[in-house]
Amino acid sequence: MKSFGFNFDTTYLGLPDALYTKLAPQPVTAPKLIILNQDLSTELGLNFTKENEDQQTAILSGNQPPEGTQPFAQAYAGHQFGHFTILGDGRAHILGEHINPNNQRFDIQLKGSGRTPYSRRGDGRAALGPMLREYIISEAMHALNIPTTRSLAVVTTGEEVFRETPLPGAILTRIASSHIRVGTFEFAATQEDSSLLEALLEYTINRHTPEIKDAENKAIALLDNVMDRQIDLITNWMRIGFIHGVMNTDNMTISGETIDYGPCAFMDAYDANTVLSSIDHMGRYAYANQPVMAQWNLSRLAGALLPVIDTNEDKAVRMAKDSIAKFPELYKRKWLTMMRAKLGLFDAHKDDETLVSDLLNWMHSNHADFTNTFRALSHEDRPTQTPYNTKPFKQWYERWQNRLSQNKKPLKSSLCLMKNNNPAIIPRNHKVEEALEAANTGNFEPFHNLLSALKSPYSDSPDIKPYQSPPAPDERVYQTFCGT
Ligand code: AMP
Ligand code: MG
Repeated sequence: MKSFGFNFDTTYLGLPDALYTKLAPQPVTAPKLIILNQDLSTELGLNFTKENEDQQTAILSGNQPPEGTQPFAQAYAGHQFGHFTILGDGRAHILGEHINPNNQRFDIQLKGSGRTPYSRRGDGRAALGPMLREYIISEAMHALNIPTTRSLAVVTTGEEVFRETPLPGAILTRIASSHIRVGTFEFAATQEDSSLLEALLEYTINRHTPEIKDAENKAIALLDNVMDRQIDLITNWMRIGFIHGVMNTDNMTISGETIDYGPCAFMDAYDANTVLSSIDHMGRYAYANQPVMAQWNLSRLAGALLPVIDTNEDKAVRMAKDSIAKFPELYKRKWLTMMRAKLGLFDAHKDDETLVSDLLNWMHSNHADFTNTFRALSHEDRPTQTPYNTKPFKQWYERWQNRLSQNKKPLKSSLCLMKNNNPAIIPRNHKVEEALEAANTGNFEPFHNLLSALKSPYSDSPDIKPYQSPPAPDERVYQTFCGT
């Protein structure tokens, strides 16, 4: 098989074999390439071209893994909506770790590629809609400068999958800096073999944070490091109104990349309690609850790490608790810095937090669109259309202008800061649904148009106009369904 520039060096298989099962993807009958991400392919140093499409499709469907691969499925566990379960890749195969020309390491994973020992009652397959959804949102997140797994390609399988109705089957090629999750450590901890946990800890540090390899307490250093990454990530989600929807510990990476785009969605009108996922009945993963749940998940990571923090359990618990207790303060600081950037504020003034929360409260009471309000503020003139033509808004605007005038930098710098933090376009749910519905009937034009509009989310281009309006009442999507 032609290698297309793949350069595999799969170190994960050097770990104890309780952590994975080696097995090949299950072949499919009639694979067809739907989309290939040329930009990402170039970043990876791959040379996919139009001429070799059949061979590409054979690779991207799992029918013919490229040379040098040793496919495997990972074992992991997870707290799903608070309940602990043993899981694992039930419908995914990692082909291997590819090293790109810049010497960066990436997992190449097929998702929807067949059953594995971790499939439980699942069919090991995925439907086209959810795979295109992951493609759109992960690529949008990347363009928004938010750490995320990427999507290299989607192929259809020529086979049907049965959900409520028969749907076209598909496979997504996912690229990640690794697939090690909080749940991977939770799984390792269930094995009651601290050498396994130790090996996973060593491996993870080497792969993601070699700078802490000489730390006095490596497990605590990793915990602190993952906490920093997750705080950065959640702050970014809050910045653009992203709601992950299923922040279970198996869906939280150690690398700090967003992973597993299931029922995730972007908020239109600002409401801290927004929940869109059809499976989140209690609002556990509501917009404003995301930092709280991130801290909860990190506590599960700390719990899994206890045996390698210290052999004295009381001491280990104390150290883990001290570490996790830093979360609220660290998050609050990052969040406020982020909100200042959204308002073009340099330096820190004591009333900044009130200024921010007064705006958010006003937005909530007036059903103001989160994205469009901040983008409207990023232009020099005061927005005058509804709902910005009211006295309470004008009063807030006045206060904000006052605060802006105390910046040591010119207005131009503020506007620039704001434009780089307040996107002009996000993948709004009604537009995503519209594109997926068309794709299911074989019309991929809306999908391609949406993708291309999402490429430069911080610039105002005429192409993005049709995607900027919040949904009309009859277009509003109240629930998003899990990516199965
Ligand atoms: P997710 O909600 O996508 O994070 O998946 C949770 C768990 O269910 C993971 O272990 C998946 O591998 C597994 N899973 C989801 N869908 C399927 C499926 N169709 N077949 C087998 N396993 C699945
Ligand atoms: Mg998952």
